[in-house]
Amino acid sequence: MPTVSIKKCKTYDKKKVKKLILDSLKEIGFNLNKWKNKRILLKPNLLGPYPPKDCITTHPIVIEAVAEIFKKVTKKITIADSSDISFERDTKALEVTGMKKVAKKLKINTFIFKAEDMMHEKTHGKVLKEICLAKSLKDFDLIVNIPKLKTHMLTEMTAAVKNLFGLVPSFYKRKYHILGKNHTKFANLIVDIFKHIKPELSILDAIEGLEGDGPGKTGIPKKTGLILTSDNALALDLVVADITGFENLLTNKYGLERGLIKKNFKVIGEKPKIPYKKPSGIKLTLAPIVINLFHDFVVKKPYINEKCQKCMKCVGACPAEAMKLKNGKIVIDRSKCIYCYCCSEFCPYKAIDHKRSFIGNYLERLHNKLMKRPTKKCS
Ligand code: SF4
Ligand code: SF4
Repeated sequence: MPTVSIKKCKTYDKKKVKKLILDSLKEIGFNLNKWKNKRILLKPNLLGPYPPKDCITTHPIVIEAVAEIFKKVTKKITIADSSDISFERDTKALEVTGMKKVAKKLKINTFIFKAEDMMHEKTHGKVLKEICLAKSLKDFDLIVNIPKLKTHMLTEMTAAVKNLFGLVPSFYKRKYHILGKNHTKFANLIVDIFKHIKPELSILDAIEGLEGDGPGKTGIPKKTGLILTSDNALALDLVVADITGFENLLTNKYGLERGLIKKNFKVIGEKPKIPYKKPSGIKLTLAPIVINLFHDFVVKKPYINEKCQKCMKCVGACPAEAMKLKNGKIVIDRSKCIYCYCCSEFCPYKAIDHKRSFIGNYLERLHNKLMKRPTKKCS
């Protein structure tokens, strides 16, 4: 039976973090000795070159603690991830997030999944019948999924299941964003990836998370004081959604509906309530049918504000090629925009605002009235 272990941990004290993770591994029945001399991939969330204090990437202390635990049984440990823009940016991310320092200290490898590093595998997903993943995954015996707890403008929250999207090479990340143009389809696509990979171990860094308009610079750091460990990424996400008040999370809903997990999995440890401020991208309190029928109205649209430095990072990140520099300004072609919020995710200057149309706001009020739900104002 899948098991989730919850541990309270207020600081990034390595000794403490390591002890708590070791205790959790025992609680979930993870057999470390099974991985003697095996090749281990540590998969953090490395969205970009952000320092640990920004709470955008998995904290290096958590990675160091996990690497030390596995070093007891094997020397073949690699920290690897990729974002969506460039090899140079990912290389810088390894430095700035503290991963290079950890790797040097423990004499382990770091690696970036390059755009051209890809393999195709047949899958039985709802959206994907064939899946494209980083080819170098074949070089590892175990994926240890080590996400950061963050809100996400597109998927509402990113934790253990969504972190696996980082195993898709960048060209296909873009393709998958376009394929999953609406929120429900994208959530099912993420569940397809989870179903295909099913990592045997997930360890969530929720000591300090990110709330509001995450997962990038527009999110707000949030002290949460937790580490969650599980042999099932979906079970972990269900628990963390309960803790943070994200009960409408579509990836969880579809995972349950598709029978990928039963609700009666085991939870060890006290489950506190630590409400996270929701992202403003879309209201998932709306019924999926309303989201699908009125998608272009109910989503918030990106607008460039006066903080823009014209660094062009958003232009490079936009999978729909909807952004360009015109007459000294960044402009968005609304007919091409798929509301994926990759631009906001990658903007280092908080220069992108999000606004919903008048009709969208009206629909939400009407929906809440019909459902007798109070309307919560987005800040
Ligand atoms: S990433 Fe941000 S600052 Fe850079 S061009 Fe885009 S909106 Fe402007
Ligand atoms: S403009 Fe922004 S939200 Fe629209 S498709 Fe491009 S990256 Fe996505």
